[in-house]
Amino acid sequence: MDFELGDRIRIEKDGNVYEGIVMPTTTNHVVVKMNSGYNAGIDPEGATITLLEKARPKQPKASSKKEKEAKQGKKLPNVTILSTGGTIASKVDYRTGAVTAQFSADDIVEAIPEITEIANISGRVVYNILSENMKTEYWAELARAVAEEIENGADGIIVAHGTDTMMYSAAALSFMLKAPVPIVFVGSQRSADRPSSDNAMNAICATKVAVSDIAEVCVVMHDSTCDDRCAIHYGTKVRKMHTSRRDAFQSINSDPIGYVDYSTKKIETILPYTKRDTHKLELNATLEPKCTLVKFVPGADPEILNYYIDSGYKGIVIEGTGLGHVSTEWIPNIKRATEAGIPVVMTSQCLNGRVCDRVYDTGRDILKAGAIEGEDMLPEVALVKLMWALGQGSDMSEIAELMSTSVENEITECTLK
Ligand code: GLU
Repeated sequence: MDFELGDRIRIEKDGNVYEGIVMPTTTNHVVVKMNSGYNAGIDPEGATITLLEKARPKQPKASSKKEKEAKQGKKLPNVTILSTGGTIASKVDYRTGAVTAQFSADDIVEAIPEITEIANISGRVVYNILSENMKTEYWAELARAVAEEIENGADGIIVAHGTDTMMYSAAALSFMLKAPVPIVFVGSQRSADRPSSDNAMNAICATKVAVSDIAEVCVVMHDSTCDDRCAIHYGTKVRKMHTSRRDAFQSINSDPIGYVDYSTKKIETILPYTKRDTHKLELNATLEPKCTLVKFVPGADPEILNYYIDSGYKGIVIEGTGLGHVSTEWIPNIKRATEAGIPVVMTSQCLNGRVCDRVYDTGRDILKAGAIEGEDMLPEVALVKLMWALGQGSDMSEIAELMSTSVENEITECTLK
């Protein structure tokens, strides 16, 4: 049987049928990736193999010099894709069968050529990592790369990022940058080789937002389990709320800025946003990385706070219970931290709703110990904001003021839901 890598074939053997895409192999077995995403290796001896579909011919690289020149004539806006890795930039590693970050930004263009109908795309690989390997200094480097691309004339930026920690990076860039153009984070929950991959729709919707009037740092991802629309979330109000569903990203304590309808490619906005060219480019990427987020659990040893105080941490965010509580045993150590000049910000593990430490005695004592209420900020956003606020060299009272004031839509005036 004549077939090649990437062809779709059917193998019938011993009463079993395997259908899938031909994968590379180092054995004499034929390996196919089936619709389920699993690979099957079958000894071709005695098997009936039928060719179902030839592999799609490789698209020319859209950001090749020739292609770019062709696109210039189209007078499309210029969008730069900064690739950091993650599933949207990944494919199956045939040696291990695992999904690894391997694609450059050019490969994303090659895989999703539709985006070149929306913008002149150029690409730059900033990192090629899974986002659990992100570090605070990488956020700063990424913010600098975004600023450089804007200075070089990009009309919009797309940051291709792993979904696991995308909300941290989006929050960091929200605080670090003021920009005249959209800065759009996008990822995918399922890699491109899977039939249910969300990478193309997310990337196409992200490109529409990158050329739009929405000059915010935002996250664009599937809004439902269908392929009908993507939501545009503020970079400071969004959270990954599901391990695997394509609509994992949700705005918390806020509606999304709006939606991109996938069939019409039209954007509908429902919340206010900063319009294109309102701000001049400003980069303020200094962070204080020695900040931590501590989750309180019943019976947790208050010594954990002493550990951070004594090992030179400069800021602490607590993910408390309910309205923003920890056990009374923790309160003296909160006081110890604030008296040492270490701001302590209280957030809630409820996620939805607003911290209010004025209702119960515990809360009042936590405030007396010097803690700052984190309003309705997500705990991880409060952490990134505290790093940024400390990076600005602010003193304790300025930090308290900053942490209670919305700088980049991270605090809503009136909590929804
Ligand atoms: N854990 C990886 C990451 O966040 C893969 C998950 C993804 O991209 O969705 O980069």
